[in-house]
Amino acid sequence: MAPTQLQENLVKANEKYASSFTEGHLALPPAKKYAIVTCMDARIDPAAAFGITLGDAHIIRNAGGVAKDALRSLVISEQLLGTQEILIIKHTGCGMLTFQNRDAVGVVQSNLGVAGVEAIRSGFGSDFLPFPDLEGAVKSDVEWLKANTAIPVKIEISGWIYEVETGKVRHVV
Ligand SMILES: [Zn+2]
Repeated sequence: MAPTQLQENLVKANEKYASSFTEGHLALPPAKKYAIVTCMDARIDPAAAFGITLGDAHIIRNAGGVAKDALRSLVISEQLLGTQEILIIKHTGCGMLTFQNRDAVGVVQSNLGVAGVEAIRSGFGSDFLPFPDLEGAVKSDVEWLKANTAIPVKIEISGWIYEVETGKVRHVV
């Protein structure tokens, strides 16, 4: 099969990147010992917006920057790779503010039928983890992590909101 335009772009951009790459010596554990949980939103550039240099931190991204969805990666990050601080960074204009579970399940049902509905049920309990209140979701995610016994009490946890309109980040909790 012929490569897609995106595949060609990947190869071309990577050739350029690799031709001047000098960071092959970096260690596996993040040098600055922290993990960021943020949204997969295409408008967020975590390295640039949050000052992350290659090798510094784990960046865990999912729809909404949801702590519960990131738990597996966070436990690996802390227990196996030595990170000691977590920053939850959600953002304005997040898609997760715009629907409820029943809406998403309805879309899956109409596009993918009963088999699709069954697959999301067995895959993640049909809970898309949407949230109606941005600031409330930041606070509840931080509280949820602090109360979670898989996260040691010594881990520093804070919550933030990134504004896609201004590029600014603000501290919530
Ligand atoms: Zn988002």
